[in-house]
Amino acid sequence: MSHRRRSLSLVALAGMLGLTLSTPAGAEPRDVGRDISRDTLAADDGWAAADGGTTGGSTADAAHVLTVRNRSELVRALDGGSDTPKIIRIAGTIDANTGDDGEKLDCDDYATGGYELKKYLAAYDPRSWGSARPSGPQEEARQASAAKQAERIELAVGSHTTIVGLKGAVLKGASLQLRGSDHVIIRNLELRDAYDCFPVWQPNTGGLGDWKTAYDNIWLRGSTHVWIDHVTISDQGHPDEDEPTYFGRNHLRHDGLLDITNASDLVTVSWSRFADHDKGLLIGNGDTATGDRGRLRVTLHHNQFENVVQRAPRVRFGQVHLYNNRYVVPADAHDYRYALGISTESAVYAENNAFTTPGHVEAADLVKSWNGTALHQTGTLFNGYPVDLLAIHNAYNSGSERDLTADVGWTPTLHQKIDSAVRADREVARGAGAGRLR
Ligand code: CA
Repeated sequence: MSHRRRSLSLVALAGMLGLTLSTPAGAEPRDVGRDISRDTLAADDGWAAADGGTTGGSTADAAHVLTVRNRSELVRALDGGSDTPKIIRIAGTIDANTGDDGEKLDCDDYATGGYELKKYLAAYDPRSWGSARPSGPQEEARQASAAKQAERIELAVGSHTTIVGLKGAVLKGASLQLRGSDHVIIRNLELRDAYDCFPVWQPNTGGLGDWKTAYDNIWLRGSTHVWIDHVTISDQGHPDEDEPTYFGRNHLRHDGLLDITNASDLVTVSWSRFADHDKGLLIGNGDTATGDRGRLRVTLHHNQFENVVQRAPRVRFGQVHLYNNRYVVPADAHDYRYALGISTESAVYAENNAFTTPGHVEAADLVKSWNGTALHQTGTLFNGYPVDLLAIHNAYNSGSERDLTADVGWTPTLHQKIDSAVRADREVARGAGAGRLR
């Protein structure tokens, strides 16, 4: 059994233990002793607290407080991403890959135009096709098939929206998409397996290409005042490591867990668990996206990154405050790459984060820079010992990376109490993720 499944079953078990205490049989499922639907972000809780704070759908009238139990009800409640203040409470497990009649859809149900993976692989094998971008009947059929899946699983979340999970709520297979949305709160929800049925082959002239997948579990584009709290996001059900290799590359099925791009701004991500995934959190998706300059201000605190191969987070342009996070790399994580990706004009201010890794993952592996110039870090704990990630990066960098300075040009002011890394490591292990709100 893979480590991915093993670690997730522990998450699930801990969640169940925390959840079964106070719900009488037959009562409305409820995760915590109070209704969190109208909560707003605390006045000092990270970047999303700036410029008036983050209120989500807290002002919704009674007609726009909806409990949803299936995809159709969820889609109706989201109202096409409208700006009407709304509170959506998710009950039970909702699978986005579901037809309007409630029938479960699989990849074959979306395939159209004669698309077949076997034919796609035959058509674009680099040994015969070369390194041009795929084009022609199979690529056209792939695109048409992908569009059918996207129409099902991409769910627009508009401004003034709060989405909360009730006890044990799970949203499977969905990509929640915030596009130009202002004031959104997502809390106490487990999101799983935004599985792409139709990855595209992207050749790379002169080198190996790669499989490119479409869906992030949550994607913020041009969105502001967003608070994501006590969510759990993973590939549970479909680990990419179980996918076959085609054209010498792992046939990936997942993109990011949470991507924040296109001049999004003022985001706080707290007490969440990101697990069992390759590309975790991307903040800024292009070195030439200069519209991101002065934006992409994000606070990440008290989150757990467990068995995340890379991007925890990778940052371009943004001022990112990263404090009291817990990183766990499992013993058999042989594909591990890095945690902190320091890219173009990024200004990451990292305080009191704790890393636990197996022997083959060293402190020098935790930071990677591409075109970045600075990283502020203090109070880092590595397998229980204090380390200076900046000094280690500069001492051990491969030569292709430039040395980083400690001056990121800003000092965070909007934050709650910053604990020691020792304490944060313990508290996050106990309290982060869906089902663990107190
Ligand atoms: Ca993405």
